Amino acid sequence: MISRILIANRGEIALRVIRAAKELGIETVCVYSSADREGPWLQHADQTVCIGPGPARESYLKIDRIISAAELANVDAIHPGYGFLAENAHFAEVCRDCHIEFIGPSPEAMGRLGDKVACKRLAKATGTPIFPGSDDAIEDEEEAVKIANEIGYPVIVKAAAGGGGRGMRVAHNEPALRAGISAARQEAQAAFGDGRVYIEKFLEAARHFEVQVLGDKHGHAVHLFERDCTSQRRHQKLIEEATAPKVDPAKRDAVCMSAAELVRSAEYSGAATVEFLMDRHQNFYMLEVNTRVQVEHPVTEMITGVDIVKEQIRIAGGEPLGLDQKKIVANGHAIECRINAEDPDRGFMPQAGRIETLVLPGGPGVRIDSHACVGYRIPPDYDSMIGKLIVHAPTRNEAIARMRRALQEFRIGPMRTVVPLHLRILESREFVDADFDIHYVERMLKSEGGKR
Ligand code: ADP
Repeated sequence: MISRILIANRGEIALRVIRAAKELGIETVCVYSSADREGPWLQHADQTVCIGPGPARESYLKIDRIISAAELANVDAIHPGYGFLAENAHFAEVCRDCHIEFIGPSPEAMGRLGDKVACKRLAKATGTPIFPGSDDAIEDEEEAVKIANEIGYPVIVKAAAGGGGRGMRVAHNEPALRAGISAARQEAQAAFGDGRVYIEKFLEAARHFEVQVLGDKHGHAVHLFERDCTSQRRHQKLIEEATAPKVDPAKRDAVCMSAAELVRSAEYSGAATVEFLMDRHQNFYMLEVNTRVQVEHPVTEMITGVDIVKEQIRIAGGEPLGLDQKKIVANGHAIECRINAEDPDRGFMPQAGRIETLVLPGGPGVRIDSHACVGYRIPPDYDSMIGKLIVHAPTRNEAIARMRRALQEFRIGPMRTVVPLHLRILESREFVDADFDIHYVERMLKSEGGKR
């Protein structure tokens, strides 16, 4: 039984976990850095503990301080949110050693799906579609050249331990591949302490398609359909929607089922997202598995009615999944816009400082997941996302109209946000027709820059 949870995170996701815990009758202990002393989410926690100064490596990433806080507060479990320690197998292991439930997968299951090479091998065995490429980490350049000649250029060199886009190199020919391998190895070694790299086919134009899965500790896994996250800038998702528009229903069902099977076969418990790229012929290729709750989980909650964070907590407590795949249905369409305090006219420079005015949208089908309020001083120490605006409507066109209306209601000052950019994207032909690929937002920004 979980009766008290420590939240090892901040901002909107800390608030999201507090909300889920409260509804389950669970007490919350929230750790914070001194830069977040006035974080509005802290008011809603039952207890708060300062764990260090602003820089994350001295607070939100400090395993010993978080564990000390957890022991002092006598919690049963830790929710890591996303980012920070959420995908750190060592942290999950320390929690286990200290008899604290980590709200997420076991360190072993995290390794099976979080390591890209191990995950690809398992995906191959479970029939989850993967990119053509090396089955394992590559031993030497000659092996890579041989594989590239078989699958054809362009190829991409990627780090087995990769994350955050580091350790990746695209190669259009053999000399570039040879150079890319050593560069990617060095970068991966420096970033992750693990220089293993592999290669796969590089897709020039694709959509981002990801499947939400939940697994329990009793060998069950279900999928909650998919999200389309094609609207990105510099590999950062800006807009996410569920379900993915214009995808053949039979193909989509097959890929969603294969994602659930992958998670089940890894003996994985908790929330996982299996990410794919989809080409214009609707072939799917697995990118990676994220072993945590995602920023964009609310769109899935809106269409399925499943509270993913509550499910994470129940699963960690050992409850069997109360969900039957046949009874999970996708209702209507949901869209999420990430509200980043960034100035699109000045290279998306993050905007810190005190929020003087704030008018949040409301009305039918509108959900706000945000910790922002008037008087809150956005610290410069963390990422610039100050909340998420989510809408739900019976059809995609109605959801688009609702999101435009909600974005028009949104007022914040004096800082700049990406709200005007969202409005332009939602009016673009590419978005409206779902005739897009992961580079379309950047193409749009480039052509707008050219016109100014
Ligand atoms: P990371 O974990 O570092 O974010 P991913 O495997 O998720 O790495 O890849 C990040 C991004 O790089 C993807 O969203 C996609 O835009 C691009 N990418 C990765 N692999 C490929 C590929 N084989 N073909 C085309 N683009 C790719």
